[in-house]
Amino acid sequence: MKIYSIVGSATHSAPRPPVTQARSGVAYGRYHRCHGCDMLFLLPAMRKGEYATCPQCSTRVGSGRDWSMTRLAAMAKAMLLLMPFAYTAPLLDIRLLGVAINASLFEGIWQMTRQGHPVTASMVAFCTVGVPITLMISLLYLFFAPRMGMNLRPILLLLEKLKAWMMLDIYLVGLAVAAIKIREFSDIEIGHGLVAYLTLTLLSLLTLIHLNPDQLWLRFYPRLHPVINPERYRLCLACHFTSAPDTRGRCPRCNTPLRARRRHSLQKSWAALISAIVFLVPANLLPISILYVNGARKEDTILSGILSLANGNVPVAAVVFIASILVPFTKVIVLSTLLLSIHLHTQRAIMTRMRLLRAMIWIGRWSMLDLFVIALMMSLVNRDQLLAFTLGPAAFYFGAAVILTILAAEWLDSRLMWDTHGTRFNNTRINTNRD
Ligand SMILES: [Zn+2]
Ligand SMILES: [Zn+2]
Repeated sequence: MKIYSIVGSATHSAPRPPVTQARSGVAYGRYHRCHGCDMLFLLPAMRKGEYATCPQCSTRVGSGRDWSMTRLAAMAKAMLLLMPFAYTAPLLDIRLLGVAINASLFEGIWQMTRQGHPVTASMVAFCTVGVPITLMISLLYLFFAPRMGMNLRPILLLLEKLKAWMMLDIYLVGLAVAAIKIREFSDIEIGHGLVAYLTLTLLSLLTLIHLNPDQLWLRFYPRLHPVINPERYRLCLACHFTSAPDTRGRCPRCNTPLRARRRHSLQKSWAALISAIVFLVPANLLPISILYVNGARKEDTILSGILSLANGNVPVAAVVFIASILVPFTKVIVLSTLLLSIHLHTQRAIMTRMRLLRAMIWIGRWSMLDLFVIALMMSLVNRDQLLAFTLGPAAFYFGAAVILTILAAEWLDSRLMWDTHGTRFNNTRINTNRD
């Protein structure tokens, strides 16, 4: 159920301006600034199944989703136990030129490294192995560390960042695409590791859905701030706590420097975006995969690979086209437009720009799909001179461009768009009416 952060009762479904809420006298909740537009409002305590959106920019500012630490730790343990099987057991089995071959996640990463692409291999390993393992260990740490009185802040800060880089589900789609591509050469059977991998992906999705770092912060570091002058309050982007900075200018909850806006947001976002544009040129012009059939070399760029895939299976080709070409280019164009709109102090279509930015953040990670497909293909189709599939030089540029566009979207502080726009509601009124 959706609730608005400023309504008196959590069951209302229509937005009302903050003034109405404050006058109604139901001033429960805590002060919160929206990370999308910096609006200050009272955020009520949310029940399970409820979430709150900002009344001004519709960004989701809070959720009542909350699993107990015991349940999260149990999930983490189950996933850590599944990982050795999911990563090393064969996901696909094929018979190629009379030889049985199987592909596992580790095998794909190892083949990439062995054939001289350690950087690209580490990109795949980071998203599919490094991040999930770190997340599971972090959850177990949060379960055990409080009993020993250990510091939980660094781990809580890490959780929010890790969520964006978990890509087990994308790898699963990559597996399906690779299977369809390989059907050209050979029969495919499902490997016995696939069940473990499917279960791992399902458990990780469930955990990600129910893992709510905001609630964990409230649980481990409950802080009530004295309502002195809420106008001075700033939002901490690291832990989402709204408060006045302490004497050193830091967030009183997580000790991160508390700034009004993300530091060097425009410069960092432009730098990442321009580098991504530069990398996208070789990524699309150079071959991304090279296939050797009986000694003959066949090179494929991203586009030619999609075209040959379209001959056999149009829907799959469409998925790869959207993930590998449409998404990166749209992202570059949209982010450039948003950045320019901040420089030009554009006031129009602020809600459309917010929606676009949210969509870009959501969709960005799916571009890693093509890289995962290639990693799988490499481990499966490798019969030396007779039939072999290897990585082209474009793969590195493509992976780097995808990671850079994800960073560019993350570093762009959307509050800068609102600074030039002006707010629809006057923030000070909440405080005035509350008194
Ligand atoms: Zn907002
Ligand atoms: Zn903080």
